[in-house]
Amino acid sequence: MMSEFEMYRQQLRNAIDEMELDNKEAVYDLLSEVNRFYEVSFPVQMDDGTKKVFKGYRSQHNSALGPTKGGLRFHPGVDEGEVKALSAWMSMKCAVAGIPYGGGKGGITVDPKKLSERELENLTRGFVKAMHPAFGEKFDIPAPDVNTNGQIMSWMIDEYNAITRSQNIGVFTGKPLELGGSLGRTEATGYGVGFTVREAAAKIGLDLKGARVVLQGFGNVGSFAAEWLYKQGCKIIAIANSRNGLYDAEGMNIPALMKYYEENGNDLAGYPDAKPFDKDEIFSIECDILLPCGLGGAITKDNANKINTKIISEGANGPLTPEADEILIKKGVFIVPDILANSGGVTVSYFEWVQNLQGYYWSKEEVFEKEEDLIVKAFNGVYDVFVNEKASNMRTAAFNYAIKKIAKAMKLKGWY
Ligand code: GLU
Repeated sequence: MMSEFEMYRQQLRNAIDEMELDNKEAVYDLLSEVNRFYEVSFPVQMDDGTKKVFKGYRSQHNSALGPTKGGLRFHPGVDEGEVKALSAWMSMKCAVAGIPYGGGKGGITVDPKKLSERELENLTRGFVKAMHPAFGEKFDIPAPDVNTNGQIMSWMIDEYNAITRSQNIGVFTGKPLELGGSLGRTEATGYGVGFTVREAAAKIGLDLKGARVVLQGFGNVGSFAAEWLYKQGCKIIAIANSRNGLYDAEGMNIPALMKYYEENGNDLAGYPDAKPFDKDEIFSIECDILLPCGLGGAITKDNANKINTKIISEGANGPLTPEADEILIKKGVFIVPDILANSGGVTVSYFEWVQNLQGYYWSKEEVFEKEEDLIVKAFNGVYDVFVNEKASNMRTAAFNYAIKKIAKAMKLKGWY
């Protein structure tokens, strides 16, 4: 299988080949590598008294548009290539969203579910101790990603400020409200996916009322995307996460399910108001809107053929392999690519940072209104490239839209 970084380079190549751009090869050379990459190994005190060594990474792909920005993931699959690719996608995502950041990403190779709370805190603090020279409020700003959350960001801020003798709260986003987080950050990514579905539906003439939605992943992104679409009158007919699946042809009550999920230890199993369902068959269900909101690489050439839907909006980062992408485009599915679909998260991270820098905080309504503005603007910008510059699909159009902005900034800075 193609590595994530090869996949990114292929997407970059496809977009640059289709674009009108001066000095294309220089732009390709600059964007096909990362500006800067850090790798650390650090010891962590375990509960049994031993010390274990972990590996952590941070990649700063491109800072032409501003400080690098992007999450930190704690996952066994984290490695150099994955982090580099994800940081490059963040550069594209921030440029598509129209926020003044470059792209970054990092993480630790670990299964955090196997750690106690104390070990998780030790791991987080150990990572910041080793990695802190990479970060900075106006330089590189991490946030939550897979398996990281507000509590982890809080430990990071505490450790970072102790080491640097500062009180910079804008250096991490996705913080709890008490530590300078923004209202609406939790819902932001999922709601943003919802906004992009609404825009895509309008383009293809699909009525959201009664539209059938299938969802893969019921974490922070998937659950809030489902909640938003439920409120618009969509029927969420099937949901799968890494452990279980649920089905109800009449559509599930998402707020009730979210409550159950939380009280049930983040598990869908046993929910009384829907039928249990084989999670591995999630992509075989006919629907109008399909939302892959779990991990990358979920839809491959092996299951893409079974998909029967009109719209896919990629809540996850990289959920479609290039072969799957090709199959689904041929089938005529309207695909909203990840760098547009899930850009609501980093957009509200940007709002959090702005609020931190100005020391003045906005209402939830204000946050969602501003998020919606930026996402609709991004969607229209990408769609305009898709239609008027004849990009072959929405992904290439989104790359094209982003690359133009980054290339302009790089040119002005004299990088080529
Ligand atoms: N981890 C999220 C993403 O992939 C959010 C990044 C951020 O808020 O900086 O977009």
